[in-house]
Parts: sequence; C-alpha cells; structure tokens
Amino acid sequence: MANTIEGATGTWEYVIGLEVHAQIISNSKLFSGASTEFGSEPNTQVSPVDAGMPGMLPVINMTCIEQAVKTGLAIEGTINRYSVFDRKNYFYPDLPQGYQISQFKQPIVSEGRLVIEMEDGSEKVIGIERLHVEQDAGKSLHDQDPGHSYVDLNRSGVGLMEIVSKPDLRSPEEAAAYVRKLRSILRYVETCDGNMQDGSMRVDANVSMRRPGEEYGTRCEIKNLNSVRFMSRALEYEALRQVDILEAGGKVAQETRLFDVGRGETRSMRSKEEAHDYRYFPDPDLLPLRLEQELINGIAASMPELPDAKRHRFMADFGLSPYDASVLVAEKENADFYEAVAEGRDKKLAANWLISELFGLLNKAGKGIEDSPVSAPALGELLDLISDDTISGRTAKEIFAEMFETGKAAGVIVEEKGLKQVTDTGAIEAVIDEVMARETQKVEEYRSGKDKLFGFFVGQVMKASGGKANPKMVNEVLKTKLDG
Ligand code: ADP
Ligand code: MG
Repeated sequence: MANTIEGATGTWEYVIGLEVHAQIISNSKLFSGASTEFGSEPNTQVSPVDAGMPGMLPVINMTCIEQAVKTGLAIEGTINRYSVFDRKNYFYPDLPQGYQISQFKQPIVSEGRLVIEMEDGSEKVIGIERLHVEQDAGKSLHDQDPGHSYVDLNRSGVGLMEIVSKPDLRSPEEAAAYVRKLRSILRYVETCDGNMQDGSMRVDANVSMRRPGEEYGTRCEIKNLNSVRFMSRALEYEALRQVDILEAGGKVAQETRLFDVGRGETRSMRSKEEAHDYRYFPDPDLLPLRLEQELINGIAASMPELPDAKRHRFMADFGLSPYDASVLVAEKENADFYEAVAEGRDKKLAANWLISELFGLLNKAGKGIEDSPVSAPALGELLDLISDDTISGRTAKEIFAEMFETGKAAGVIVEEKGLKQVTDTGAIEAVIDEVMARETQKVEEYRSGKDKLFGFFVGQVMKASGGKANPKMVNEVLKTKLDG
C-alpha cells in the first residue's frame, strides 16, 4: 500500500491525525468510588456522581492521575504540573450531568512523541500534541426492546486518557502502526488494557488529502473506530471519497463521519456548521490540579523498560534483526518468554523458534502466550537437545509439535520414540557401507564424475538410518568414502 493515491489529475497524499481514547486501568472511576469492572449487570456500578444527581461533588481519583502521568512519560511528553478540568457542555441521554468533565486549554501532558516501525524496517517519529484526562459517558442500549431505548450508566464517569497525535501520519499503514505501537506502550506501563473489541481503546481518525508538499487540506473526522483493520479500511474509503471531490474541482466539507462496517463506507454524522459549541469553562467543583515534582519523579523511577528500549537491546546485545526484535517486543509477555528461553542459549536460534514455530502453533490454536502448552523452560530444553546434537533440527520440529499437543517434555518424547540422533562414527560408517554395497552402479557413476549423485547418497543413508543419523557427519564420512 502506498502513501499516495494517483488520481486523473495527479498525485494525492494522505494527511492523518489520530485521537485515541484509552480507558484508564483503575479500580474506581475518575471522580467517584464506583467500580469500573467490565461486563457487570447494567446500572450496578453507579454512584450519585456518575448519575449526575443534583448537588453531587466530584472528588478526584489520584490513581487515574498517576496513570496519566505514567503514560505521559512513556510517550516522552511534557508533564504539566498545573492543569485544569473544564466542563464540556452538551446533551445526550447517556450523559446525565449535561456536561463531560475534561481538560481543554491546560491538559496534564503536552508535546510527546512515538516511534513507529514500518515493515521495511524504517522508523518514523510521530508527534503527539497532548494527552488529557476526561470522563467517559454511559451507554445507550437500543437493542433490548423494540419500542424503547435504555441507558446503562456503568461506564459513566470512568476515567479516559485522550491522546491526540499531530497530523504526521501519511498512510493507513502508518496510522495502523501508530495505534499498534501506542497500544503496546499502554500495555507495557499497564495504564490501559488496549482491548479495542471491548471498547477500552477507541480511535477517532482525522484525514485530509493534499498535493505532496502543499498546505494541508480540509479534514474529516471518522468517529469511534474499534479495530485497527476497520480504521485502515475507513481511511482508504474516505481518502478515495475526498479525492473524487477534489478532482471534480469541489471542496471537502469539514465534518464528522461514521464508518459503516457492513457497507465499508463512511457517512456524514454532522457538519462543522452544526458543530457543538461546548461552552468550555473551568469546573467550579474542582480546583486546578497541581502535581508535586516528587510525585512525577517517583513515577519516572518506577517505569518499566519500554518496547523501543527493549527492541534496541535485543538488536544490540542479542544480534537480532530489526524485524525479529519488533515482533518479539510488541507484547511484553512475548518478550519475557523470549528472554527466559534465550537466557544462556543461542539468541537467534531462540528467536527463530519463538517466531516461526511457537507463534505459528499458538496462532493456529487461537491461543495467547499465557496459555502456551509449552513453557519457556520446556522449549529451552528442546533447544539444548539441538545444540548438543542429541537431535537434528528437523526431528526437533516434530518433537515440538508433539510437545505442543501433549504437553510432554522433549527428553521424554526423544526416549519414547527413540529419536536420539546417531553420532557414533562407526554406526554411520556401517550404514554408508551398506548403501554403497547396494548401489554399486551409482558409486561407479559418481566416481566417473557425476557429482550430482552425492545428494542421492545422503538421502539413502539418512533413510537407512531412520532419519536419525547426524546429517553433518553423514556428509563428511560419505565424502571420504566415495572420494577415497
Ligand atoms: P479539533 O480541536 O477541531 O478537534 P485539533 O486541532 O485538536 O482539532 O485536531 C484534531 C486531530 O486532527 C489531531 O489529531 C490533528 O492531528 C488532526 N488534524 C488537524 N488538521 C488536520 C488536517 N488538515 N488533516 C488531517 N488531520 C488533521
Ligand atoms: Mg481536538
């Protein structure tokens, strides 16, 4: 996929900026003590604050603030020690307060950055404008009754981080890489679970098209995308729609659009003219938020190693390729598993086994690494058997499939099936003599110059040994015998 679209009148370039809503991991809501647990019975986790009762008073949950600071540090943002909560006023049935408490002019984090890696190994820095903290709304339920809509306020008041990128993304692939990378970072620092299918991470995608190098054009915003794949499709559709308008000499109207997954189209939701005037003003129930430098320092000191640092360490210390390192660090659990297997062993061998064998089987079984039937020490034992020549790499793959299937240890399977590699020179010589005695005609041909037959002999010897002869030794001994 390219960064550009070729129209009848020339080339158009994507300009994309993303607003990501990430639900903060915290036991209770942003301004109340009600639980945030997912999947509970409707309206069982609603305090008077979340229900917008008259006279209620919000009390800030410092865990949510600490989580936002941690995330801000992870995206290399500036942590603002002074920030302000505003009321964003609008009416919606799932918003009983009649306003959302958010941050507008003075967010808690500004000016961050995030590095995305593309498939060709290249890297690009994407600017982040801001990260602010706000409340989530409740949920209208339209599918419970043919004649009525209901509202579930369990989500009302849950803390969100809104992370706004600069318009630095230049293709749907870059946008996808950005969302994946951000999700990976959020999971590393454990501030959001990143589960898009549950709605705990949602994306609003802004896109406009321009002639390469020229001024930005008018953008449209596609709201509430809940999968990376849908986002890419929505962006591709929207780009073509805008190019059609621009090529016909028209102007793109700035508006908010929705992506209809079934039809694969974006549709207008509201135009800029109807856009809300939210009448932002500082919430009189909440003092401005002032953070002590010690609090920020303490959080900074507790940060785990982040994906970029881990990736560079895997490349520099373990000699892994950029691609392998990226794959292994994307999820922290995979990286931890890898390090446990690689400890004291061949780093590249361990990386190959995870990426092409283990991940392959896990994928097929629809399992995550936390449910892997083969543990890190068990895979390590298998790699040791390869390294000390007990088994060949090929046999190892068969053993691994059985380990995955049955949970048995590698050593046990080798014993049970007699798969131990033959490395005894005498035994290998005996098999070779036997094959040569049988194939006198071929030996003659080989000796009179038909070199190609060497592979045939290797095959015959391997077969005669039941696949158990050490291939390297077979090659060596066979060479001396045939040439001798
Ligand atoms: P608003 O305040 O109207 O929401 P912002 O300036 O906050 O607008 O921008 C919202 C998002 O739109 C940001 O992610 C930003 O990068 C992106 N954006 C801004 N201008 C453009 C543009 N011309 N084309 C595409 N995306 C844009
Ligand atoms: Mg905005």
